[in-house]
Amino acid sequence: MSELNLELSNVSYAYEEGAKRLQILEGANLTVKRGELVALVAPSGAGKSTLLHLGGLLERPQDGEVSICGDATSLLSDRERTRMRRGTVGFVYQFHHLLPEFSALENVAIPQMIAGKSAADAQNRARTLLDSLGVGPRASHRPSELSGGEQQRVAIARAAANNPNLILADEPTGNLDPDTSNLVFDALLVLIKENQSSALIATHDHDLARRADRVVTLKGGEISDLKL
Ligand code: ADP
Repeated sequence: MSELNLELSNVSYAYEEGAKRLQILEGANLTVKRGELVALVAPSGAGKSTLLHLGGLLERPQDGEVSICGDATSLLSDRERTRMRRGTVGFVYQFHHLLPEFSALENVAIPQMIAGKSAADAQNRARTLLDSLGVGPRASHRPSELSGGEQQRVAIARAAANNPNLILADEPTGNLDPDTSNLVFDALLVLIKENQSSALIATHDHDLARRADRVVTLKGGEISDLKL
């Protein structure tokens, strides 16, 4: 089993619009180990979301290799990439995107049922995850009846529902107050350490980023370690 849940080797990516070319990554390298939570801190527009999309196989680099759990992905078909993404990657966004008509429990159970689990097993796991994230007592409520921090913790439970090796989070605490941000970040840390999975988390919040195992930034097309 690979020690690296995410590896970018010599990755280049540019947006092209007509004659214009916006180079986001150029020969960039990044590793995220099993059990490691890495914070990604860079100014708005630097390319954080793009990097998360590349890591989550939502985009293909124009050059270089993205490997997930030791498996190279550049030669895979779209269908194979989708299968790999479903099996290994969980996403958390700034706005939770929970399904409004369903309870917190159902929001965490549904992705597991889509992946083939029975309703009973999916609900059991959903309950365990919501408990461990401190939102068990809110399990039967719909998203609109939850606070922002509770909604985000449910979104984290949903991202973790199918046991992904890698959680990719895009400003998950971006619209939360500092105390709630801390709670949500703690929840992510506990999850990563307990499951020995990995996370790459884009954040503007330097206080939170300092609590990650490592901080990286994105500049001039390269990814480098950042000391905060
Ligand atoms: P961040 O997440 O750090 O704010 P993004 O990855 O969203 O940065 O965007 C990086 C740059 O790429 C920005 O200048 C943005 O405007 C541009 N960009 C993002 N998506 C596209 C796209 N689909 N087409 C063209 N340019 C894009």
